[in-house]
Amino acid sequence: MLVLRLECPAAEKDRLIAELWERSTAGITEQDLPGGRSSLAAFFEERIDVSGLAAWLPQWEPVEDRDWVQVAQSQWSPIVVGARFYLAPAWSEDLTPPGRLGLVMHSGQACGTGWHAATQLCLEAMERYLAPGATLLDLGTGSGILAVAASLLGAGPIYACDIDPNAALAARDRLRAEGVAAGLFIGSTRSLRSESIDLIVANLNAETLLALAPEIARLRKPAARAILSGFPRRHLPRLRAAFPSPLEILERQDWAALII
Ligand code: SAH
Repeated sequence: MLVLRLECPAAEKDRLIAELWERSTAGITEQDLPGGRSSLAAFFEERIDVSGLAAWLPQWEPVEDRDWVQVAQSQWSPIVVGARFYLAPAWSEDLTPPGRLGLVMHSGQACGTGWHAATQLCLEAMERYLAPGATLLDLGTGSGILAVAASLLGAGPIYACDIDPNAALAARDRLRAEGVAAGLFIGSTRSLRSESIDLIVANLNAETLLALAPEIARLRKPAARAILSGFPRRHLPRLRAAFPSPLEILERQDWAALII
C-alpha cells in the first residue's frame, strides 16, 4: 500500500477528492491547513499516473498496511445529501439525524460508495422525482446504492442492471443484506418490457448515456422521467443535443445531471 500526498486550496478539495475516487483510491484522509489550504492523503495499491495532478504537488510514500485501514476508517465522516439522505460509513456510530434516510457508504470494489458528486446528484434528484410506488430502474447499479435509496424513498418495483458481473454480484449481496427486493439484470435490460418504467436513474458516463438513449426511450412509460448523471459539465452540450429540452439540469462541483 502506498499513500499519495497532495495539497490544494480548500475550495478545490471536493473536486480533487472526486477525482481521486475516479482513479480508484482505496481511501482518503483530509486535513485543513492554515491559509485556506487542505492536505489530502489518498491510499493506493500501486502507483497511478499522477501527471494530471502536478498542480497539487503529489508525493508518494510507502505506508504500512495496518495503518491505512485504521486511518482511512477513522477519517471517513458521514455526510448529508439533499434534503433527505444521510450517508455514513458502516463503522460510524453516529445516529441518522431525525427525518433523514440513512444510507451506508461501502468502500468495496464496485463503484458507488456515495462519495462521488455524480451519485449525490442522483440522490438529490431521486428525492424529488421518485413518487412512492413508482417502478424504478437503476441503470449501472455498481454497489446498488441508488436501488437502496429508491427503496428508502418508497419506490414500487425496483430493477437494477450492470454490465460488470462483479458489480452485479456486489449489488445483489447488498440488496439482500438490506432487505431490498429488486430484479437484477447482468448485462442488459433487453428483457424488461417496453414502457414499463416510471423513473430511470442512470449514473454512467456521457458515451454510455448516448449509446443507451434508444434503450432509455424504449423503457420509459410515456410520462416517465429519467435522471442522467455521471458526466462532467463540459459534456452537457452533447447530452443536451441527444436529450433535448431537459426538464432540469443539476450541477455539483464539476459534474452535471440532466432530468428528462
Ligand atoms: N449507480 C452507482 C454506480 C455508478 S458507476 C452510483 O451512482 O454510485 C457506473 C456503473 O455502471 C458501473 O458499475 C459500470 O459497470 C456500470 N455500467 C457501465 N456501462 C453500463 C451499461 N452499458 N449498462 C449497464 N451498466 C453499465
